[in-house]
Amino acid sequence: MRDSISNSEGRTKSQWQWGKGEGPLSLISVQTRQGSCSSFVHVRSRQPFNGARMDVKGGGKEEKTSVMAEAGRVLITFDVDGTLIQSLGLNSNLLHKKAFSYAMEEVFGIVGTIDAIKHHGSTDPMVLVNTLEHYGIPLDQATVRLHDLKEKMLDYTRENASQIKEGLELLPGVEDLLAALAERKKDVVIGLVTGNLEEIAWLKMEGLGIRKYFSTPNFGGFGSDHSDRGELVKIATQRAEAYHPGEFSLKVHVGDTPNDIRAAEYGGALALGVCTGVFSRDDLLAASENGNVIILEDLKDSWIFFKACNIT
Ligand SMILES: [Mg+2]
Repeated sequence: MRDSISNSEGRTKSQWQWGKGEGPLSLISVQTRQGSCSSFVHVRSRQPFNGARMDVKGGGKEEKTSVMAEAGRVLITFDVDGTLIQSLGLNSNLLHKKAFSYAMEEVFGIVGTIDAIKHHGSTDPMVLVNTLEHYGIPLDQATVRLHDLKEKMLDYTRENASQIKEGLELLPGVEDLLAALAERKKDVVIGLVTGNLEEIAWLKMEGLGIRKYFSTPNFGGFGSDHSDRGELVKIATQRAEAYHPGEFSLKVHVGDTPNDIRAAEYGGALALGVCTGVFSRDDLLAASENGNVIILEDLKDSWIFFKACNIT
């Protein structure tokens, strides 16, 4: 089945839809084209998304499924690195990396860099432990000094906070999307879920000028809360629910790594993957264990994002 629809700006979208979301497997794929640019959303669902299924009917008109407005608000948590921001050039994510190096040298006398090994989708505590292990510090010795290591990272970051933007840049479409979400405060609550230590994460948001778009009081799940990323969506959700008890009809976690997909599902959220990090659409799809996952190429198209989150 193939339909054409238009969004509020009149851009043409084509849709291929298999099934109606009620069978054992429903696949919905929407491809949009604007000029020479394309973006994609791929939805794989083995069950309806808590009533948040995307439904689009033919005839050039969109049939709204305003489940959210009736049932409650949407809780959206964003990963930071590779999802909202990208690291650029030789100085990529410079202050954060220097903070790791400073902590390792201050606590263990290790002169090194976290670039020694790959850490995509990890948490700051795990990055510390794994990097130190790479440099010969046994896991148990590194783990027992985690508190000191994190404190040293924060000391360095506070001391050099003016450099927080060095080697960082917002990904395309992010500021427009966050601004659009912030205008929907009645319907949407937005926070962070990131492996960054909390203070460093909010410093990045502040430095890049986007902290103002997040719901207040600010909330999230951070590397300073738990070393296992899988717990962070749960922690962020608990905090959001403490501020907004019983208000959420849908929870969505947005991230760029397979660990984000797994953390979303473990935390009871709909996983929304973006291909703006180093992982492909197939990598992200393969990480889903429950079959409910949405993959967007990027966050450039707020309309598609709103549809994916059933914000009508
Ligand atoms: Mg990331």
